[in-house]
Order: sequence, then structure tokens, then C-alpha cells
Amino acid sequence: MFFELAATLAWAAPVEVSALHPLMADLARQVGGNHVEVHDLTGGGGNLHRFEPRPADMKQMQSSVIVFAAGKNMEIYLERLKSNLGGVTVVEVGRTIPSLTIGKDAVYTCCPGHGVGVIDPHWWNGIDNMRRAARVVAQALSEKDPDAKAYYTGNAIAYGQRLDVLKKWAKLELAKVPSSRRKLVTSHNALAYFAKEFGFEVIAVAGLTKEQNVTPQEQAKTIESVKNAAVPALFPEKNTSGKSLDAIVKATGTRLGDPLIADGNGTGDDAGFEAIIRHNVNAITKGLVTP
Ligand SMILES: [Zn+2]
Ligand SMILES: [Zn+2]
Repeated sequence: MFFELAATLAWAAPVEVSALHPLMADLARQVGGNHVEVHDLTGGGGNLHRFEPRPADMKQMQSSVIVFAAGKNMEIYLERLKSNLGGVTVVEVGRTIPSLTIGKDAVYTCCPGHGVGVIDPHWWNGIDNMRRAARVVAQALSEKDPDAKAYYTGNAIAYGQRLDVLKKWAKLELAKVPSSRRKLVTSHNALAYFAKEFGFEVIAVAGLTKEQNVTPQEQAKTIESVKNAAVPALFPEKNTSGKSLDAIVKATGTRLGDPLIADGNGTGDDAGFEAIIRHNVNAITKGLVTP
């Protein structure tokens, strides 16, 4: 009997899960610890609004106990995907988190699936939201692996406490930005949850991403918005370049801030939620505090 139990514990294979968003993979690792093996299918910096699973990804998901999605229709392909997963549990981590709606001022929105008036899917940019999400992940893992429920719950609580510390730090840092400058002029309208949490306004403009084709009218509108915002810096997204960006900078005299990570797909030192928040807070403070 004793030996049986010991053998079970020693050989308990980790719970295999897949994630359709790098920050859901991060959450699953934080909460699942060494009880869970996480397959991050979208990490590494691609465009998360356009993920197309390869056959190997499908296989990975089909052999997983849970597939974690961000939810809130971030994965606009999710219903189609579910019908091909053969009953694997799909958990939309953000489902119960209060939604914001993409406002009409969002000149440029992220992709055709996320236009004005629909639910803003970028809920992970709020620190409180991620703390709640950790509990959702703990609950989902506990249902599949009830023996480790206390472990998952404990990890979610500990992670939540770390996020509270992170939020306090972020608040102190961002408080350095004068109130007249609390505007994030950026490209893809992904930081609304962050902005709400810290009292910023997001001004989403065209022309700050690499792949975007900007019409002369859009460019003129962007230049006007940037001038009206009267902020010292605008924030491109990671890997941005291009002549439209140069033209905006030239026409407005606004400095280019360090790129922000909007969709949660930070790489290297900027991988994972806590590192992304630190990166973005540092970029915003550096860009908007300096005269
Ligand atoms: Zn989108
Ligand atoms: Zn996005």
C-alpha cells in the first residue's frame, strides 16, 4: 500500500496543457509549477491575432488535458478550432473578467476581427485582471487534477501577491508622469485595460506598425492627433519601422519612445507578464517624464 502510493507520487506524469497565448502559457506555468507541462504554441513574437495552428500544433492540443485560450474572442478562430479538438477541454481564461469595448476613437484597431464596438480582447494588460486569471487557471487545473488542488490554489495566491507588489511599483513609477501627459499615443489599440488601471488615455493612431499600409489621409490624421495630444513621446510597437513612422516623427517633432509590448508576446528578457509590465512601465515613464 505504502509502496503503491510512493510509486504513484514518484511517477505522476505532469499534466499536459497547451496555450494559445504566451501569457496564458505564463499563467499556466506560474500556477501549475512542476505539476504541469506547458506547450506554448504562440510564443516567440508572432501576430497573435492571426495564429494559424500547424498540424503539429493540432496534435499537441489533441493530446493536452486543457487548452488555455485568452478568450474574449481574442482567438477569433476558436469555435472552428474547438470543433477539431475532439472534446479536449478549452478554457477561455478571460471569460469572466469585466470587458471594455473598443471605442470609436480607436482610429486604428488591431485586426478585422476587432473593430469599433466589439469587446476589447486585450484584457491581460490589466494587472488586477491577471491576478483574477490566475485563480481561473488554478480552478481549471484543479478540476483535472484534484489531488493537487491545494498546490494550484497556493501558487495562484502567491502569484497574486507578487502581482500586487508589481502593481504598487507600477503606480509609483507612473505617478512620475504629469497628469497632462498621461496619454499613450500608440498603434494597435491594445492598452485600454492598462490605461484604465493607471489613469491614462490611449490615443491609437495609424502608421506606427510595420505591416500597416497607411493612406495619406490616415497619415495626416495621425499627425494631427499626435500634435493635439501634445505629448513628448509616442510609442511604436516592437519591431516597428518604416517611412510613415519617420514622417510622423518629423512632422510632429515628437520623440520616439521605446516600443511597447501590446499583445503579450515579449521575447528574451521581456518574456512573461511581469517582465512585460516592467518593460512597458519603464518605457512609458522614460518617454513621458523627460521634457
Ligand atoms: Zn485583433
Ligand atoms: Zn492585439
